[in-house]
Amino acid sequence: VNFQLIAGNLALDFVNTVGNRLGDAEDYLVRAADVTRWARLAGLGPVTVTPRQLHVVRATREEMYHLFRGGSLAPLNARLPTRRLERRGGVVRWRWDDPDRLLGPILLSAAELLVSGAQTKIRQCDDETCGWLFLDRSRAGRRRWCSMADCGNRAKVRRYYRRWGEVLPM
Ligand SMILES: [Zn+2]
Repeated sequence: VNFQLIAGNLALDFVNTVGNRLGDAEDYLVRAADVTRWARLAGLGPVTVTPRQLHVVRATREEMYHLFRGGSLAPLNARLPTRRLERRGGVVRWRWDDPDRLLGPILLSAAELLVSGAQTKIRQCDDETCGWLFLDRSRAGRRRWCSMADCGNRAKVRRYYRRWGEVLPM
């Protein structure tokens, strides 16, 4: 799987680790190694999860999807991580316990997105089955596709065939 970070927000990108969510859905986080790969790409550093934690990771992702679609805050509240400070090599940073090393930053990103008021800019791709979420930062607020190269282009091709399909019996 070629992971894509197109949402403009860590938590939304995490939710987008399911492809074709509204159709024949494909989970991109099948193995623990997939999570490690995604985390590195997302800039979360080295993360390893056990198979049991993988289950939690996926469950959290689905809760967040429903939350971003207007669902209850309760699951997010229940999972909000506890973190501590640690000093290592003269540098102070957050210390998370696994799997919060992965989920902690994602959950906080989701929480900050919601309290920032920017949740009104969360959109779902206009494609029939894609289901990806993203933050619409365009000035006009009319971004429709998760990615122009992907769903946007598919829609253009469909429009084209619809138009010419009336003329050419194919
Ligand atoms: Zn899409």
